[in-house]
Amino acid sequence: MSTIDWSVQADTFKPEVRSLINGQHFDADGELYKKTSPIDLRSLSDIAILNEKEVNIAVNAARKAYNSRCWAGLPLTKRKEILFKFSDLINQHVGTLALLDCLEMGKSIHNLMYDDIPTGAASIRWFAEALDKVYDHCAPARDGALGTITSEPLGVVGAIIPWNYPMIMLAWKIAPALAMGNSVVLKPAEQSTYSAIKVAELALEAGIPPGVFNVVTGDGRTGQALASHMDVDGIFFTGSTEVGKLIMQYAAQSNLKKVALECGGKSPFIVLNSSKQLEYAAQSMARHVYFNQGQICSAASRLIIQAECEAEFLALLKQQINQYQPANPLLTDTRVGAMVSHQQLDKVVNYVEMAVQSGAEVFAGGKAVEPVKNGAFYQPTILTGVRNDMPIAQEEIFGPVVSVIRVKDTAEAVQVANQTKYGLAAAVWTDDFNTAHQVASQLRAGTVHVNAYGEDDATVPFGGMKQSGLGKDKSIWSLQQYAEMKTTWFRYS
Ligand code: NAD
Repeated sequence: MSTIDWSVQADTFKPEVRSLINGQHFDADGELYKKTSPIDLRSLSDIAILNEKEVNIAVNAARKAYNSRCWAGLPLTKRKEILFKFSDLINQHVGTLALLDCLEMGKSIHNLMYDDIPTGAASIRWFAEALDKVYDHCAPARDGALGTITSEPLGVVGAIIPWNYPMIMLAWKIAPALAMGNSVVLKPAEQSTYSAIKVAELALEAGIPPGVFNVVTGDGRTGQALASHMDVDGIFFTGSTEVGKLIMQYAAQSNLKKVALECGGKSPFIVLNSSKQLEYAAQSMARHVYFNQGQICSAASRLIIQAECEAEFLALLKQQINQYQPANPLLTDTRVGAMVSHQQLDKVVNYVEMAVQSGAEVFAGGKAVEPVKNGAFYQPTILTGVRNDMPIAQEEIFGPVVSVIRVKDTAEAVQVANQTKYGLAAAVWTDDFNTAHQVASQLRAGTVHVNAYGEDDATVPFGGMKQSGLGKDKSIWSLQQYAEMKTTWFRYS
């Protein structure tokens, strides 16, 4: 396949940047969020930072739409049909959506077109298919009484999302919320807003009534206004643990709205001597820590390895690195694009420098690069000699950096793996069945992989233990979070 360069389209493209409230673009007053592209620092269209008053307009529109039953009251087959159309429209606009995200947050056009956007669209389809397959319950009540346990929409749902997988993050929140009949106000990340506005336009085109799906642009202040709003019934957040904690406070200080949090991670990837699949393990690790410049919540960022197989595994991992060198994301043969911003790049540079000062060694990579002039790119990196108490091993860097921590045996591997505040994902590589089973059961993570990493589809819940969050995205378990469970007693004699 020959390479196509999207630079020309990028140079002439003018995105719609206004919020979408009650089916119409909204002209906000006040402060702007200034934007440049991480690819080459070109100027991009600024977005408005909606204030409390303006967020209130969106919440009121969502409430009015909810109360009118224009969405919640539709026959389920109709709601499903509209969501199918919505998913199809996203796929039909994949090129435009990919260009918007690529310019704003630096991910490769290829990855957006063949992973993020179609996976997001497929997630909407999955929840649409599921919406009439969730049955309510009837309690084993005494004679003359009937107790039903039913699910009702929450009402007005607020969703706050990050920028690292713009379409997947969006779909994992709004699809189950809409499928359950709620109205939604979405606050996309300030680094990936354009595509969310386009998606809201497509929702209208698909037939989702005005006011049911609203997008408010802005930064943390806009998110705070949404999460603190007295008339929002549930707030569904994906982002850092730090902000996740604030979201809980806002919910507690306002109306005790329902909260679900998908937060950060520092996931351990344990390789034991008993593994005979080192090459495959190295491929798997590289894919899940270097892809997307390491800006993956479940990045396999801590390699916990038994001394006897360390040298062989590191040589194999190093061989993988070339495939993940960052390049111009506007070229269709690029697989790994830019980091989201120069601030994020600086953060990675600082973490690596700090680790080296504390005794870690750069085994591969370790430098910022500029495949595009002025761009924010970092080499895929391996740091050896890391101790688990160093910041590089404990804090989420959100960059393409593997910290290698050597251990003597399986027990120490598990202990080190669990010695973190996070608990999002984990892996163990071994060909010993008993060890695999024991280690998997001892790892404190929401998703554990055995001889695998990053296995994922719509059917399984995704979410963390400990400070990686509470609640789940995806699957039937996620749907239930967007509903209130109600008990109704009937007496009939
Ligand atoms: P972030 O926490 O800085 O921001 C996330 C969202 O919250 C953005 O929309 C932002 O504007 C908003 N926000 C910021 N401050 C706020 C405040 N005070 N009140 C309300 N909203 C506020 O995170 P980020 O940099 O956008 O994304 C990276 C983080 O997301 C990483 O920690 C990553 O692990 C996490 N993440 C987790 C998952 C998961 O499923 N667990 C998936 C993707 C990303």
